[in-house]
Amino acid sequence: MGKVVVGLAAGCAVAACLVAAVMVGRRVRRRMGWRRVLRVVEELEEVCATPVDRLRQVVDAMAVEMHAGLASEGGSKLKMLLTYVHDLPTGNEKGTFYALHLGGTNFRVLRVQLGGQRSAIIGHDVDRQPIPEPLMTSTSEELFDFIASSLKVFVGKGDDVSELSKMGKRELGFTFSFPVKQISFSSGLLIKWTKGFAIEDTVGRDVSQCLQQALSRKELDIQVTALINDTVGTLAVGHYHDEDTLVAVIIGTGTNACYLERADAIIKCQGLLTTSRDMVVNVEWGNFWSSHLPRTSYDVDLDAESPNPNDQGFEKMISGMYLGDIVRRVILRMSQELDVFGPGPSKLHVPFILRTPLMAAMHEDESPDLREVARVLKDVLEIPDVPLNIRKLIVKVCDVVTCRAARLAAAGIVGILKKIGRDGSGGVASGKARPKPGRKIKIKRTVVAIEGGLYTNYTLFRVYLNEAMAQILGEDVAPYVIIKVTEDGSGIGAALLAASHSASSVVDTVL
Ligand code: ADP
Ligand code: MG
Repeated sequence: MGKVVVGLAAGCAVAACLVAAVMVGRRVRRRMGWRRVLRVVEELEEVCATPVDRLRQVVDAMAVEMHAGLASEGGSKLKMLLTYVHDLPTGNEKGTFYALHLGGTNFRVLRVQLGGQRSAIIGHDVDRQPIPEPLMTSTSEELFDFIASSLKVFVGKGDDVSELSKMGKRELGFTFSFPVKQISFSSGLLIKWTKGFAIEDTVGRDVSQCLQQALSRKELDIQVTALINDTVGTLAVGHYHDEDTLVAVIIGTGTNACYLERADAIIKCQGLLTTSRDMVVNVEWGNFWSSHLPRTSYDVDLDAESPNPNDQGFEKMISGMYLGDIVRRVILRMSQELDVFGPGPSKLHVPFILRTPLMAAMHEDESPDLREVARVLKDVLEIPDVPLNIRKLIVKVCDVVTCRAARLAAAGIVGILKKIGRDGSGGVASGKARPKPGRKIKIKRTVVAIEGGLYTNYTLFRVYLNEAMAQILGEDVAPYVIIKVTEDGSGIGAALLAASHSASSVVDTVL
């Protein structure tokens, strides 16, 4: 009996020791895991760092690449597409103009009434109409007939109430957000469809003519007078309200920019045009690349696994389509170091499951116990009960990724300003030839029009971008560069450009 008791006691002691050992082991592993997770985040921070010196290198690279892209076709990753837009709206335009925006799964029709005074825009938006899915892969005729029919209904509705539209021929600006090789202000050839569209017989054709023919088939007497992309629309609206607007940037699902280039820069570089006037150039900056961009292994993997590897490198670091997925990749990496993310596969492996608005919600969670972070982790990624210290690290990851994106976008903008001599370099911003105190600095005011859901909805992104602009430009120049949010430029801008070109029928000669 005594032996049994002693045996039992010994057994219990061994078991207790084992349990203690397991617990200590787990604690040690956790502590080591925690250290490794910390290291993952620290490394991310180090690689993503964007001190002002580095941003200035990006600024220079952007300006150099823009120059190279203008100099020759294929001379840079930047396409620097000529738009044939010389005249931006001034605010004096009068009349009623239509716009049609085909950008993705929806299209919109607008009527814009202009009273000849700035801000006298009455935008009349038809409900976003989805393109019926079968039409996205049908024929050119079917797609454009559908669009023309919807436009006809819209125009018919408006004519009863619109006095102005009875004055003269109706004109329409067409915003077409697919890659186009522009051949004049009002025409351009479709290079390829994207975003789920695949209509073979449209590729290589003039999309403006496709629309015009459909309008005739539907007996709709409207002239397509402008064919633009969405950044040009943003610039047009910006310029309509403020003539110092020379640059437009879109930061939404994707990102792009355009700007007004000096005539001599275009003639000297491309030698294509007999033009003596400035022209808007579509930078297609999503494809910008430079060795100065701070690139992580997460960016490399994201790119490699994307449908378009080695393409749109800048966009993949900056735009709303990708930021959430970069964060997902970092959290996945963290989960491999520490078991608090739970056993087995979670939703963390699903590409693009963490959309950027969710990432922003975690980033901007101000509750002391980070409730929103916990909610997103649980509801979206199916990881419950993540401890607070890890949730704090996840907020840090969101911060690092967004801060890098916003600061790089700022450097891109200053790169464009540098290209057109509006960054204050050549003296003030570079700090080389600072004027003596009290001496007046001559810097021209420049407005940058910005549009897109990432910039307008993500407060911290906006704050970081503005902060970086001020840092790069320096306190003497920064006050002269103004960022203005433009609303619905991609739609209204087309109508404004149709208006500003309706009086001046300008023809460029392509040599
Ligand atoms: P698009 O670029 O498709 O024309 P938007 O300009 O409206 O459309 O931008 C939409 C994009 O903006 C979304 O894909 C998303 O990435 C981003 N976005 C929208 N809302 C938010 C938000 N609250 N926080 C962060 N990003 C957002
Ligand atoms: Mg858009």
